[in-house]
Amino acid sequence: MSTEQTVSGNFLRTIIDDDLASGRHAGIVTRFPPEPNGYLHIGHAKSICLNFGLAQQSGGRCHLRFDDTNPAKEEVEYIESIKESVRWLGFDWGTHLYYASDNFEQLYQWAEYLIQQGKAYVEELSAEEIRNHRGTLTEPGTESSSRNRPITESLDLFRRMRGDDFPDGARVLRARIDMASPNMNLRDPVLYRIIHAPHPHVGDAWRIYPMYDFAHGQSDAMEGITHSICTLEFEDHKPLYDWFLDNLPVPCKPRQYEFARLNLTYTVMSKRKLHELVNSGTVSGWDDPRMPTLVGIRRRGFTPEAVRAFCERIGVGRSDSWIDVSILEECVREDLNERAPRALAVLRPLKLVIDNYPESQVEEFEAANHPQKPEMGSRTVAFSREIFIEQDDFEETPPKGFFRMTPGTEVRLRYAYIVRCTGVIKDEQGRAIEVHCEYDPASRGGSAADGRKIKGTIHWVSASHSIDAEVRLFDRLFSDPNPDRGGADYRQFLNHDSIEILPAAKLELGLASADSRQRLQFERLGYFRPDPRDSAPGKPVFNRIVTLKDAWTKK
Ligand code: ATP
Ligand code: MG
Repeated sequence: MSTEQTVSGNFLRTIIDDDLASGRHAGIVTRFPPEPNGYLHIGHAKSICLNFGLAQQSGGRCHLRFDDTNPAKEEVEYIESIKESVRWLGFDWGTHLYYASDNFEQLYQWAEYLIQQGKAYVEELSAEEIRNHRGTLTEPGTESSSRNRPITESLDLFRRMRGDDFPDGARVLRARIDMASPNMNLRDPVLYRIIHAPHPHVGDAWRIYPMYDFAHGQSDAMEGITHSICTLEFEDHKPLYDWFLDNLPVPCKPRQYEFARLNLTYTVMSKRKLHELVNSGTVSGWDDPRMPTLVGIRRRGFTPEAVRAFCERIGVGRSDSWIDVSILEECVREDLNERAPRALAVLRPLKLVIDNYPESQVEEFEAANHPQKPEMGSRTVAFSREIFIEQDDFEETPPKGFFRMTPGTEVRLRYAYIVRCTGVIKDEQGRAIEVHCEYDPASRGGSAADGRKIKGTIHWVSASHSIDAEVRLFDRLFSDPNPDRGGADYRQFLNHDSIEILPAAKLELGLASADSRQRLQFERLGYFRPDPRDSAPGKPVFNRIVTLKDAWTKK
């Protein structure tokens, strides 16, 4: 990795340690503050691991707070899913669950306080006019005529805004700061707007809603947050964050610190784009296994341990960078390699008949559940005259270096015998539909009695000792590493082959009872788990979580 520090030892850790050592803070309080307007994605996991991790390491606590200031876009469904995803990642907010909307009355009082101090005023310009008067980075903004209206008039108008006297957009409350500030966020930002929409948490109590900036820092202060950690795009908002805390009678003054957000290759993470993927039917839902959402990767079979290891590995710094998605996949592989029991499965079956094997004979072979972990035990797999092998493990005219099944040569059937291919039956199109071979009875277990070397080993399942399953293979959702770079239309980079459905896979019999909590390695094929939504008893559907090796870096 780069010189970036890990989550457990980063620049924020140093700041926190210094604050504890100097007595500036007796304890640490952080928060994870999602807006419930969509499902969490892997970028949020970085923020969750960071905020909860920093608190845990210093014996402090981390709050879960919903910054729910825009009822037009927020829903209970998102609130519930966010809670579940944070828990799934392995973090616990204890009793510290908060909603910015529970602070609406206090925020309203503070808004009146600012008006009374001559630091806020009611504006009737439209959103567009306000934008046009804002100026540019090189030119100051224009002061509105409302800016100098009497305090009593603003107060009266603001109370009438609350009291439902105006339609949406007719008035806003603005802070009275500085229309010539080099920081655009300080040019009399909007604090309140009128929205006639029920709120997912506080119902229809309000017609006016605070802007995110007016709610966020003050909610931090009310909760006693010591370190308010956010992504770099909020750096320009920090003077405003501090302005509110300096100009309101808040109980404490949290400090804001910024870190670089996670950008992951071959995907998009903005909630707007994720909404579009769902609404356009490009994916089957927020939990489509190809989505970068936490519900998506969870359904696919990624483990919380792997996601936490990934967040630890990528580190936390202050410079924006792109992280290759293969690092995430590698973390999943490393975790599953340790704990996934091995199994035999054939995804694209081709029948193999062992002509010299007795027709009614069935043998059982012992197969270790994990090659390096005897403590994980073993199982028996049945072997018989007719078995299935992978279509691409057979080649009639093999390319150079092909050591699998090909006429005239020997290959090892994993755990079982050495066989020599004797012929192939083809259909009218010339495709192999049945391969024939003879086995060497002296090679039971897979080694030749005379010690001759066999280069290739292939996997198989016994035809009469297998179950049928649908298997879903996933590829990246986009074919370009940075699908939304430079404002490009990310949709043009959609990978139209990002899912492949194999309807007639054959699995070893023992997998009939696999439940969706299980993750398995299908030998030579990757890591798989039963899909928790679509798998049914007698009709299993398996998702490939990740391949055994990174196939992309070689492409
Ligand atoms: P988006 O911009 O994707 O719509 P958001 O940043 O508005 O999402 P929030 O619900 O406001 O989403 O995010 C909650 C917290 O997660 C914020 O503190 C935010 O900074 C952090 N966060 C969001 N995206 C990322 C990311 N890609 N990497 C790290 N942290 C992130
Ligand atoms: Mg945000």
